[in-house]
Amino acid sequence: MGDPKRRYFSPEIETKPRERIERERDEKLLGDLLPWAYERSALIQEVWSEAGVTIDDVTTMDDFHQKVPFISKDTVRSFRDRHHDPYGGLLCLDPGMTEVFSAIFSTSGTTGDPTPAPYAGRGPSMLVREFWETGCRPGDHFVEMLFTFRGPGIHDTIRGIGATPVFLDHSPAEVPQLVRFSRELRPTAWYNLSGPLVLALEQHVADTGDNLAEAFASYRGVIFAGEPIGPRARHIVEDEWGLELFVQTGVGDVGAATECREHDGCHFWEDTCYVEHLDPDGAEPAGDGKRGELVATTLIDKIAPLVRYRSDDLVRVTREQCACGRTHGRLWPLGRKGDEVVVGGRSVLPGDVWAAVESEPETSAGLFQVIRAAREVDRLRLRVGYSAEGPKGLGDLRARVTDAVQAAVGVQPEVELVENEVLLRQGPPHKIPRVAKA
Ligand SMILES: [Zn+2]
Repeated sequence: MGDPKRRYFSPEIETKPRERIERERDEKLLGDLLPWAYERSALIQEVWSEAGVTIDDVTTMDDFHQKVPFISKDTVRSFRDRHHDPYGGLLCLDPGMTEVFSAIFSTSGTTGDPTPAPYAGRGPSMLVREFWETGCRPGDHFVEMLFTFRGPGIHDTIRGIGATPVFLDHSPAEVPQLVRFSRELRPTAWYNLSGPLVLALEQHVADTGDNLAEAFASYRGVIFAGEPIGPRARHIVEDEWGLELFVQTGVGDVGAATECREHDGCHFWEDTCYVEHLDPDGAEPAGDGKRGELVATTLIDKIAPLVRYRSDDLVRVTREQCACGRTHGRLWPLGRKGDEVVVGGRSVLPGDVWAAVESEPETSAGLFQVIRAAREVDRLRLRVGYSAEGPKGLGDLRARVTDAVQAAVGVQPEVELVENEVLLRQGPPHKIPRVAKA
């Protein structure tokens, strides 16, 4: 496991010179992952064949960029439904060879039905690098607050840094137990905190008067995942409870990217995935630092490899070296391509109205949905959750939220108010859908 005092978990990988990162990445992609996937994945064969491309046509990175067709969640679902294949043609092994799977877990299904994900990992994932970065060390306790459908990977990874997992369900009902274990076991890290859990913790404080800054004093780092954190929730968690948050975001279903102690973008590991960042409506690179769609290719998943997977996530990307010394790229999540509405030529993402919704006391939980019947709409329609009716009634609250959103995005919204619980019921445990068709 190496020196417990070292700065990075894997110094030689995390600070590798860029030209070596890129050379090794390209060799792995062209020489190993693509031939493997092309040979075995029925989905890759179908999609490449439709595009008139074979593996012999892809020998350079230019070939890759010009010829390899994209896949998306819809491509996978369509294959699954046409061929009655639960793995959507991605599986590169005979399904009868289940002895190589240690588990099947699934995605959370935020954008549709969840996708089963065969898991063949044994031992820690590359997340050991970010778990080490939280400051957790061998012999410490590490709170694992997850859902069972996410499988055993996180447990193996916590063991991989030499810490002891403390299991809790990712559920508001577990909050009293979380606070108790935090006091009794003094854990140093926690995976993961989410928006709904922040609300449950606030309710716990309101009900009991508990001092969470004292209860949580032992944590060196907490990973926040599921959806972006709004400014109000961040203020409470960081300034009132004293937790240092490490925001984590997905890398197009092939991995995760997590903040380091600089909190200046989420690092993605280029020995595990190839990240492209393209014009959302085309195939051209969006350019370093510009807004583009994240397109991801795994370099390590030989079980169900995704190749040029269009994630629908709008991100900013840089490969400039981070102040922490790591040389791998970083990304900033901005929102979902499918969440964008265009109102009179003006682009609006849920993140653009978030702080405005949070600015009124009754809607400060930041629970809202953008009603998106189509990408281009005549009016910006919002469904906003509120906690309690103020002394001047709902009409007054609606007027205040309307004004706050108009000031933030320059478009007057039509606001429908519903109780917070109505929106919380729609989510998987760690987030709510930020857009709705009606
Ligand atoms: Zn960094």
